[in-house]
Amino acid sequence: MKPLITNKTHMEAFDIFNREYETKALSVCPELKNITIDAVCNYDSAHLAELNLSSNDAFAYYFYYQTSPKNAEIVVNKDVIKRQNITVDDTLAAIAHEIGHIISIEKHGDCFTELPAEVLGDEYVCRIGLKEQLIILLKKMIGCGEYFDFQVNWLEKRIYLLERFPMTNDISTKAKLAIAIEMNKNE
Ligand SMILES: [Zn+2]
Repeated sequence: MKPLITNKTHMEAFDIFNREYETKALSVCPELKNITIDAVCNYDSAHLAELNLSSNDAFAYYFYYQTSPKNAEIVVNKDVIKRQNITVDDTLAAIAHEIGHIISIEKHGDCFTELPAEVLGDEYVCRIGLKEQLIILLKKMIGCGEYFDFQVNWLEKRIYLLERFPMTNDISTKAKLAIAIEMNKNE
């Protein structure tokens, strides 16, 4: 059977994700059954520009939801992965986060942007079971010193929400978004 993610990166983490998290991801996000996902490297700069992948982003996604079948890409920037010492565990969390973005768009359209979109993506990470790994990754991103103040601020808010909201079904996405938006207002 075809794996959840077609790994074109030669990065072990995608194979591990397929092996250890595919079942969980499909149960959390049944919509994935109708979407093919390729993991690819930063193969051309025009494509990266289209993805809005900046030089300090290790991961990005693109979702061709208008095509049939729907196809998504998780794009990795191997230079940044090396530079920021991003581990296999970090990458597993990032994969779940990018899948979260893809599923958010599939379910809600692309109406969420910026911090709320990140918070929504993080919710899927928690539900897939990679919350602790994501917190470590976000802290590493803050520590690397490569991000603007507003980006660090977003990372801190995401950690705040991740740590305070063990992801159970009784806490709605809506409630978390309200908090994120409220925190945003209080800048
Ligand atoms: Zn994101």
